[in-house]
Amino acid sequence: MTTPPSFPTDADVVVIGAGALGLATTYALAKAGVPRVVLLDQFEPATQASARAAGLFKLLQSSEVKTRLAARSVLIVRGFEAETGVPLPFVDSGSIYAARTPQHASMVEAEVEDGRGWGVELVRIDNAEAHRLAPYLAGKHLLSAYHVPGDLYVEEPRSMLLAFWQAAERLGARVIGHAPVTGIRVAGGAVTAVETPHGAIRTPLVVDSAGVWSRIVGWMAGVDVPVQSVRHHLRITSPVAGMEAKQPVVRLIDAATYLRPARGGIMYGGFEQDPLALDPASIGGFSMDTLPLDHATSDQFRDAVLDEFPDLATTTVQEQRGGMFTMTADGMFLAGPSDAVRGLWVASGCNGSGFSLSAGIGSVLAEWIVGGDPPFDVSALAPDRFATANLTDDQLRDAGIWQYVNYYVPPGA
Ligand SMILES: Cc1cc2nc3c(=O)[nH]c(=O)nc-3n(C[C@H](O)[C@H](O)[C@H](O)COP(=O)(O)OP(=O)(O)OC[C@H]3O[C@@H](n4cnc5c(N)ncnc54)[C@H](O)[C@@H]3O)c2cc1C
Repeated sequence: MTTPPSFPTDADVVVIGAGALGLATTYALAKAGVPRVVLLDQFEPATQASARAAGLFKLLQSSEVKTRLAARSVLIVRGFEAETGVPLPFVDSGSIYAARTPQHASMVEAEVEDGRGWGVELVRIDNAEAHRLAPYLAGKHLLSAYHVPGDLYVEEPRSMLLAFWQAAERLGARVIGHAPVTGIRVAGGAVTAVETPHGAIRTPLVVDSAGVWSRIVGWMAGVDVPVQSVRHHLRITSPVAGMEAKQPVVRLIDAATYLRPARGGIMYGGFEQDPLALDPASIGGFSMDTLPLDHATSDQFRDAVLDEFPDLATTTVQEQRGGMFTMTADGMFLAGPSDAVRGLWVASGCNGSGFSLSAGIGSVLAEWIVGGDPPFDVSALAPDRFATANLTDDQLRDAGIWQYVNYYVPPGA
């Protein structure tokens, strides 16, 4: 391994993991005026789970805190180029949230009521209007459908990561790839340094944003970061006549499937009932590139929505991709300082929303680190909240899978 020229020996903050969460946090810290922020990645930065995301931003969330983070993220993305001078291409598509069964329609209505209470703009639409807005959606059997005009998507997920990276570097942060953190030094209950094959970096503050490796990184400081990795797939079809990038994202929740325009075709992915859970700690040399992909899972989602998306019947596969979510036992992020070790902060536990909520989480953490308080109550995301539960690995695995499987399942179903 060649040591990069002038590998740093001191930093105000070391961020571990250059995915969406680490890059957004690095950018936000640099923007908040932290002078020496160093972001380290074991691989080429911006190449793991975040680079495989569907790129969907969703304002309608399951809790108030996630709704606030989603709104913040959308605001940051919309204003990013004006703020930084760095382009962050996004498609102002809006989205449609819809269901075809009475049970799922009730779930949509309940979520819409909550969402409106938390300030999300939602417009009830009928089948004809759904088809008018999104011609690739037939609009035949929707029992409940809402248009969310403020939603957007990023066509190629890596473009957002590169934008955060470039903006962070312009503000003086350093992003260094091929620099795995192999240890975290703790003295007197506080972080003092990180260790890498290129040397140690003295620092009083570390952010663990290591994605599916977050638990391994937490253990380096003697802290448990309870995340369970669960595989997720999506597919992009061959081009479809009439598809336009501006057509809305569609979430058809009775099929647990999302769809959007992509590269002239249709992207679709979903939450299967029997997902693959993996433990990266037990797989030497694990990276997202080594993850096996399963076409049958995507075939199931295609078949489940064919009635509403008939074009899918005649498409071929342009790209099949997959990566891992970091699920938590309660479906909420792990974000904030650890109580166990001073100076250890966590930004993980994405539960499938880490790409779109990264800008919001990064900005909240930066304000908190610099100003001493978060801008609003994010105690529901406290990284130590499971410390007294003493979850066994099996309990964490079962709970993480449950959260994944029930992403779009109505309560009590
Ligand atoms: C197919 C798919 C579709 C998705 N679609 C969406 C979507 O539409 N919207 C959405 O919001 N989310 C989506 N997600 C989820 C989203 O991708 C994740 O929530 C997000 O990428 C998590 O970001 P991260 O920064 O935690 O992880 P990563 O991007 O995996 O980054 C973690 C980084 O940490 C590094 N690292 C680990 N250990 C070390 C170490 N010891 N030293 C140095 N570096 C280390 C890794 O190399 C990696 O680069 C999707 C995920 C998948 C797989």
